[in-house]
Amino acid sequence: MSTKHNQKGQVKWFSQERGYGYITNNEKKDLYFGVKDIEGAELPENGDIVFFTEYIGKENTSAATDIKIFERKNPKLKRVHCKGCERKVEPKPWYYGGSDYTTVSIVLLCPFCGYRISKKGGGFNTFAKIILGVFVLALSFVFYKII
Ligand SMILES: [Zn+2]
Repeated sequence: MSTKHNQKGQVKWFSQERGYGYITNNEKKDLYFGVKDIEGAELPENGDIVFFTEYIGKENTSAATDIKIFERKNPKLKRVHCKGCERKVEPKPWYYGGSDYTTVSIVLLCPFCGYRISKKGGGFNTFAKIILGVFVLALSFVFYKII
């Protein structure tokens, strides 16, 4: 059995109900795969870019296994545990601009209780806040010493 590892392809079609689908590889060949060939709990959807191992399956046809989702065509937010209401939720992104409109941040909110789950983007701001915090702390320490 010959195998080709780390192949990249696109999910042409996949049916959750039927439990199988096809991946189009770089040579525009369609490879069969079953639901058991998917790694992890997340199932691929049509158009997703995936990594996989190509092998010769039954009846000498090419098939795909060890399928890992590389890029979602329609990215979905992962379900996370909300500390506000103790539910597994799909966070709702909420966009807001900075006061000077140079920064746009995304806050992820719980759709049930509105709890702020996490913040995406604004990485520089967070970094700047830490630096500022350390600076203020050092300054107050210096003042404390003087007094
Ligand atoms: Zn919640």
